[in-house]
Amino acid sequence: MPTATATPTPKAVIHQRYGAKAVYRVDEVREAVDGVCPGLALPQSTRCVYRCQLDIPGVLSVSTPGTFVRKKDAEQAAAQIAIEKLGIQPTSNIPNTPEEAWEELISRISYFFTDENFPTSSHPLVGHLSVTLRRTGDFLGKIPISAIIACDVKVHTLCKIIDPKAEFDPLLVLSMIYNAAKQSPGVSVSNRNFWIQSQRPYSPEAVDLALQCWSGISDPIRVEAVLIPCAMEDGPKMVSLNISENEHYMGDIALKLSATDPSHVLVSRTVDKASSEMRFYFPAPDVQFVSDLSKQLVDDRENRNMNCIINKRASYISGQTIYGDAVLANVGYTRRDTELQTDHVNLCTYYRILLRKLPDGIYKISKDSILVAELPCVYARTSWKGPSPRDLLCSFCRLQRLSEPYFAANRCANDGRIAKENPDMFKCSVKIYSKKRDLLLEYSTDYSWSKETDAIQNSALKVLIWFNRYFKQLNTPVEKLYLPKSTDGFTIYPNIFLQEFAMCLSVYGKTSGGDSRTCSAVGYFSMDTSYQQLESSAFLTDIDGQDSGVFPSHGSLACISYSVHLFMKDSRKRYLLEVNNEFEFEIGAGAVRNQLESCATQLSVNQSACFVDQLSDRDLSLAAACELSLDLSKICRDSCVLEFSVKVLQVTEPLEDRMEKALFNPPLSKQRVEFAVRHINQLHATTLVDFGCGSGSLLDSLLEHPTTLEKIVGVDISRKGLTRAAKSLHQKLSKKLLLQTSVPTAVLYHGSVTDFDSRLYGFDIGTCLEVIEHVEEDQASLFGNVVLSSFCPAVLIVSTPNYEYNPILQRSALPNKEEEQEQDAGPCKFRNHDHKFEWTRSQFQRWATRLAASHNYSVEFSGVGGSSDEPGYASQIAVFRRMARNQGESSLNEDDSHQPYEVLWEWPNASIPSH
Ligand code: SAH
Ligand code: MG
Repeated sequence: MPTATATPTPKAVIHQRYGAKAVYRVDEVREAVDGVCPGLALPQSTRCVYRCQLDIPGVLSVSTPGTFVRKKDAEQAAAQIAIEKLGIQPTSNIPNTPEEAWEELISRISYFFTDENFPTSSHPLVGHLSVTLRRTGDFLGKIPISAIIACDVKVHTLCKIIDPKAEFDPLLVLSMIYNAAKQSPGVSVSNRNFWIQSQRPYSPEAVDLALQCWSGISDPIRVEAVLIPCAMEDGPKMVSLNISENEHYMGDIALKLSATDPSHVLVSRTVDKASSEMRFYFPAPDVQFVSDLSKQLVDDRENRNMNCIINKRASYISGQTIYGDAVLANVGYTRRDTELQTDHVNLCTYYRILLRKLPDGIYKISKDSILVAELPCVYARTSWKGPSPRDLLCSFCRLQRLSEPYFAANRCANDGRIAKENPDMFKCSVKIYSKKRDLLLEYSTDYSWSKETDAIQNSALKVLIWFNRYFKQLNTPVEKLYLPKSTDGFTIYPNIFLQEFAMCLSVYGKTSGGDSRTCSAVGYFSMDTSYQQLESSAFLTDIDGQDSGVFPSHGSLACISYSVHLFMKDSRKRYLLEVNNEFEFEIGAGAVRNQLESCATQLSVNQSACFVDQLSDRDLSLAAACELSLDLSKICRDSCVLEFSVKVLQVTEPLEDRMEKALFNPPLSKQRVEFAVRHINQLHATTLVDFGCGSGSLLDSLLEHPTTLEKIVGVDISRKGLTRAAKSLHQKLSKKLLLQTSVPTAVLYHGSVTDFDSRLYGFDIGTCLEVIEHVEEDQASLFGNVVLSSFCPAVLIVSTPNYEYNPILQRSALPNKEEEQEQDAGPCKFRNHDHKFEWTRSQFQRWATRLAASHNYSVEFSGVGGSSDEPGYASQIAVFRRMARNQGESSLNEDDSHQPYEVLWEWPNASIPSH
């Protein structure tokens, strides 16, 4: 498990020594997966594992004796072997005490200004020195202290040892270097400004060399940058920096910031990816440490007469204290090149950096879908796209300047529920610490997983979702969010928590703007995927294309193309914010904006439609807009809407179905239908009710078989499913009518199977296929009781997955998965993430036997898929039969009429419901 003080990885150690000389070669090896599955249609699979060879020419060559499931593990192992062979001791030459650090800081500064190190060294400070040597007059040879801060990591490390606060405070770093420079031999600093220079003039040879480095006259460079005003009510705006060849680049930044001169410009740490030179530049506050401070540094910020205020947005982003107006610019010298490196920074870049700090920001950016993608609420190893929840949580903590999250995955004792094949399960708790290692959030869970990584990833996702929700409700009263011990496994330590998120709160919280019309910066919250939520439907317009009958359903993978425009009501202008020609997501996983999911599920493949959604989040829209116009920076919720245009390109069936299809011939669903038909015929049943009929697959297929049925009824809680069922039943029945075969009547009811409706009393046969596992266990028991005590069908058939069969399904549904993951475990704990439970045979049998006994039914067990041998059928089935009625128990009389169900569709006389 990661700790706060990360030791360098073996690869990093090798890289430090040998750089690009070290060459890793990874070979793929195929290895048979053991364990043969009975009765499978698929051939047995092999898996990919890796071996690595590390060559450091002229030094050594090693290779890993064994194989690894992940490429990176193979490489690290090879590096580790090399380290051992070479006897490398990971050394550190970092001083331990503040005093030692102070001495070293002084000599470090001198070092920069000695002729030998200049200008042949590849240190980025050389760039600054060369430019100052081409200046004339007073500025000749002077560089701003900030340049040292920007260029030298070592200086930073030393400052942090002298005073850990330096990490968060560029001004403190400036004062340290200033004071150290005063004691550095050969270096002089001015008394009034923050220039630093060599006491002796540079040797003519050095100057010549510096000038030679220069590539000659070139035009001034124009670099776009963003000004972040200190006042929160002023939005960020674009500025152009004009960097001329003979001037120090901080000169123009100083002008933009109205600073006295470049030496009065301070720099933050880099704020984007490690390779970028993007930083905030801001004016040094008017401080007095210049002449009064001697060697030791006293942080007497309060006593200083500081005529400045904190720039909240810049401070929040950089995690450092930044004063006054700030310029976000990407310019600087690097080790890679002697030339000044520049890159444009526009408003969109700024909003993306802001977005990256949110718990779901990196996820949205990684999916290249800022307005549409949402952090999914479930994790399944095979269907998860983009950085893993654990990586996301680590990045989030890093960007929020917290310590690395602490994951504790432990084996938990077999709780008796799990059969012999799963002797060990893992649970993972997570702790989030501040930089100072104070605990601020703790998550512990009762969920267990058969794989350690699943336990970690799932817990990481839970924590991310918690943060996501917190960030979207920043304006709710503090007391509500920090119950001392919350119910769902989270414990928050409010004092530390609030302290760590204070800057974030002041940027996003109620103080920001104060005007509710300029929407909340972070936007609204959506993660609940209860049925109600999914039913909330987008109002579609411009529906185009034929209904192909293939539609995305719960658990399926939908591939869509979409575009999002911003429409400004006042000016009637339209701006393209985001387009995506191929975007894949899982229906029901909360992986996209609600309205979009609703849209996609109303369409079939090849259909397209438009809908309009509220502009929920201004910053998001700005982060998406690649071409930001002036108008866009002024958008606010009231005057704009988002226009979505969506086309469904392709639908891949739910994983559960895919697994079932891959393994069984005929498919498991078909086998379930055939099972039901056998019982209908045996019984000469004339009436049938399908509890939880979904989109009507059973009812539909029953019509393809000759049966004695005269009336078929479906009940479901999902209107969407029922609407689908209505459409396909309508087609089937119409066709049957044309062929003049006997046609049963049909009704579809909207309602919950846990409620009794007297219209369905005493049917010949009731079916409830693969439904109970979609409700909580107590609801499943309630359903059992209601059906057998009130609906009283002569026969009830209940099917549900057999948990013990999962390893076989999962192993064979995912042959030849690519690299990274271990092969032997399934994609998720259950077959479908909507399942609330999956029972072993003994659990199911216990449930059914008790139920039957208490309602005077008999019960027999059977199943479809596989055989009754170990580990049992893939789908286990209980067949309940009503026994002779007890005395006193009578059939339903008229007064008992209780009809909570709503008729959604009826045949004949049917009109097809629309969404
Ligand atoms: N029986 C179908 C569908 C199974 S999916 C088949 O075999 O294909 C599970 C179905 O149960 C979904 O359609 C879901 O909407 C439905 N469902 C879940 N809880 C329900 C409840 N309380 N009442 C009625 N239907 C419910
Ligand atoms: Mg199911």
